[in-house]
Amino acid sequence: MTECLFCRIVQGEIAADIVYQDESVIAFRDIQPQVPTHVLVVPRRHVAGYNDLTKDDDALLGSVGRAAAHVAQLEGIGSSGYRCVVNSGQDALQSVPHLHVHVLGGRPLSWPPG
Ligand code: AMP
Repeated sequence: MTECLFCRIVQGEIAADIVYQDESVIAFRDIQPQVPTHVLVVPRRHVAGYNDLTKDDDALLGSVGRAAAHVAQLEGIGSSGYRCVVNSGQDALQSVPHLHVHVLGGRPLSWPPG
């Protein structure tokens, strides 16, 4: 059995509040939302993070990006605005080593981030 948390969600071994899925990605609500809308878009195939991307992942990254925009539309924040965040590595506080895009919105967001 895989130890990767998000692989286990992809495989249905751990429950999640899924808002969208297709053949390439799954999107579910973050368990500790930081803003009114906080959804994680995760590729079904395991890639640990940005540092691990290869040319073979170009299509996968496109699928994740398009799914993030689609999720924003589904969540009603596509027009008002939203932020897509990928935390990579220790300084960025990446806590789950399976690539994921945070789709954040539902209120005005400040810049720069902390
Ligand atoms: P990161 O810190 O960028 O790696 O983001 C990981 C995110 O996964 C955090 O925002 C966590 O709150 C979220 N998370 C951890 N476990 C779960 C879970 N079982 N279901 C949904 N979100 C989770």
